[in-house]
Amino acid sequence: MRKPIIAGNWKMHKTTLEAINLVNALKRELYNIENVDIVVCPPFTVLNEVSEIIQDSNIALGGQDVFWEKEGAFTGEVSARMLKDVGCRYVIIGHSERRKYFGETDEIVGKKIRAALKEELIPIVCIGESLKQREEGKTFDIVKGQIRQGFKDLSEEEFLKLIIAYEPIWAIGTGRTATPGEAEEVQGFIRQQIADIYSEEAANLIRIQYGGSVKPDNIEELIREKDIDGALVGGASLEADSFVEIVKKSSALVRSETSDKQK
Ligand code: PEP
Repeated sequence: MRKPIIAGNWKMHKTTLEAINLVNALKRELYNIENVDIVVCPPFTVLNEVSEIIQDSNIALGGQDVFWEKEGAFTGEVSARMLKDVGCRYVIIGHSERRKYFGETDEIVGKKIRAALKEELIPIVCIGESLKQREEGKTFDIVKGQIRQGFKDLSEEEFLKLIIAYEPIWAIGTGRTATPGEAEEVQGFIRQQIADIYSEEAANLIRIQYGGSVKPDNIEELIREKDIDGALVGGASLEADSFVEIVKKSSALVRSETSDKQK
């Protein structure tokens, strides 16, 4: 079993005080979790405050986006170096909301991945199909295209620094989760693509999160699937109780699977 990674994408939510309260609660409740990687991705405006609170804790910081240039006249943008400077270890790239509202293409996603890797940030790269594409039977083609284009020219060594998040767009913020079987089918396909492009070893090592209406009551059945290595969580990461429960349930599952193996 690969170590699960649970990341909270706060999107455009939380004032400074709200962010401080939320992350303090997470720190208090999750301090003893070691078998799950925990990440929070607050908006840029509160990265600094959150960073100070989680310093030296088991919670890592991530940005929600990054620009591909190092610096310059790019009003409103934030560079990988700036994210690193404020304490980020991760950055979400290619979220479907960025693809939809800000016209991000697979080519842009590729440029952002490279910029993040240069600063040793770990990109969490989102891929996934729309409802229309799924209904038209194009899911595998879409995901394959996103992988081939977005990861183009990355060496295996570079590629292995990434986290992939499979997020069917129709399941994001809709309350409609993919069934574990639906998610596993695509995640297994993604892993097979990785094996074809790179190697079996790379396919085995890479962590693939599922994202789309993950909640405390569906996390266990999802991460029990062999190709689902954690979750990218939107709505349920905005309340301490639900995010804590998602992380704790993941942790308990890892513990029980490890002890089963030892028997
Ligand atoms: C997301 O924003 O990546 C996401 C999966 O959101 P939600 O959990 O709210 O569906």
